[in-house]
Amino acid sequence: MGLAVRDAILEGETVGLRCEDGVIASLGPEVRTQQDDEVIDAARMALVPGLVNAHTHAAMTLFRGFADDLPLMEWLERHIWPVEKRMDDDDVYWGTRLACVEMIRTGTTCFWDMYWHAHATARAVEDAGLRAVTAAPLIDDSDPAKSERACSDAERSLGRISEAGGLMARPGFAPHAIYTLSERSLRWVAERATELDLPVQIHLSETEDELAGCLEAHGERPAMYLDRVGLLGPGTVLAHGCWLDRAELELIAERGATVVTNPVANLKLAVGRVFPYTTAREAGVAVGLGTDGPGSNNSLDLLADAKTFALLQKNEVRDPAAVTAMETLEIATGRCSRLLGGRRLEPGAPADFLLVRGDDPELALGKLDAGLVYAAAGAVVDTTVVAGRALMRGRVIEGVEEIVARARERAAGLGLR
Ligand SMILES: [Zn+2]
Repeated sequence: MGLAVRDAILEGETVGLRCEDGVIASLGPEVRTQQDDEVIDAARMALVPGLVNAHTHAAMTLFRGFADDLPLMEWLERHIWPVEKRMDDDDVYWGTRLACVEMIRTGTTCFWDMYWHAHATARAVEDAGLRAVTAAPLIDDSDPAKSERACSDAERSLGRISEAGGLMARPGFAPHAIYTLSERSLRWVAERATELDLPVQIHLSETEDELAGCLEAHGERPAMYLDRVGLLGPGTVLAHGCWLDRAELELIAERGATVVTNPVANLKLAVGRVFPYTTAREAGVAVGLGTDGPGSNNSLDLLADAKTFALLQKNEVRDPAAVTAMETLEIATGRCSRLLGGRRLEPGAPADFLLVRGDDPELALGKLDAGLVYAAAGAVVDTTVVAGRALMRGRVIEGVEEIVARARERAAGLGLR
C-alpha cells in the first residue's frame, strides 16, 4: 500500500504524486494509483518540500513561558540547568512529543535536536513519525578531569539512541559549546565522529562573551579553535555563528561545515549581532535555519523564523533584494546544505512534503514562495507527509489531546507550572 496525492499544484502545474517505501515513486501530470493506496485529493493545494528545523532542543516545550526575558547565562545557570538536573526520560519523551505535534502542524518534517536523555527523544521521534538527528549534549565544565566521564556518557548515550531509534531518529554527537568543554573532550568527539561517520552539532559564536573568552583562553577566534581541535568538517552543524568574521566564514566554507542561523532566538536573547549571512553566502558557506529551543524562541513554527531571517538580513545590509523569498525557502527546507539533506520533490527523493492551502487568504494571491515566507504562518499547512506517511491530514493529528495532557503533567511535576 502506498500514499498517493491527486491534483496538487507544483510550480504552477497540476500534478499527482505516489509514494512507496518512503520515497517518491512517481510524480507528474499522470500518476497511476494502485487499488489499496491511501489517496489524498489535493485540489487547490500546493505541494511544498518539508521544512528542516536544523537546530532545536525539542523537549524544552516544557520550559515554554518559564523564566522568559533574561540574559542567556543567567537564564541557563539559574533557571534552566537546575531543573534539567531533575528531568527524566518521561519528561523528555512527552516534551518532545509535544514539540513534534507543533512541528507537524507547521510543516517541519525533519529536525536536529540536542538534549538530555536523547534516547527518549529518539523514541518520541519514532512514535511521532518525524525524522530527526538526536544527540545528548556533552559538557565537562571545561575541566579535563571531568572529560573522561563526559565522553563515556556520550558514548553510552549513542548506544541508547541507536537502540531506541530506528529508521527515523539518527544518532549524532552534540558537544555543547567551546566554553563548556575542555580541549580533550572536543578532540575526543572529533575522533569518534570520524570513526563512526556520525554528524556533530555544536553551538558556536553565539555571544560576544563567547568570542572574547575564546580569544583570551586560546588566542584565536572560535572557528579557528574548532578547526584546530579537528571539529570543523562537512559533518558538523554550527548553531548561531552571530559573531563569526569573514576569515572564519571562509575557513568554514573551505572545511564544508554548515552554519545554522536561529534569528528569533538570537533576537529574544539579545545577542547584539545578526549572523552575517550575505558574507557567509559570498564565502560559499552551507547554511540552514533553526528555531533553537522552545524555551528561547518560544515557537517551533519555522516559517516565522524564515520571515525574521529574511527581514533581518535585508535590513542588516540595507538592501531589500539581499535575500529573496525563494532563497529563504531553500534555506528553510535544508536545500542549501548537503548535510541537512533537503531535496527537490522528484522521483527517488524521500517522500517528505507538505500540502498547503492555496485558498487560505495569505496564499490566495501572488507567488507561493513570497506568500509562505512573508504572509503565512504554519497554519496554512493542511497535510504533512514524512517518509510517505501522512502524519497530519486536514490539520488533524491523532492523539494530540493525550500528548498535551501528558506534557502538562510532566511540566507540573518539574515545578514549571
Ligand atoms: Zn541551542
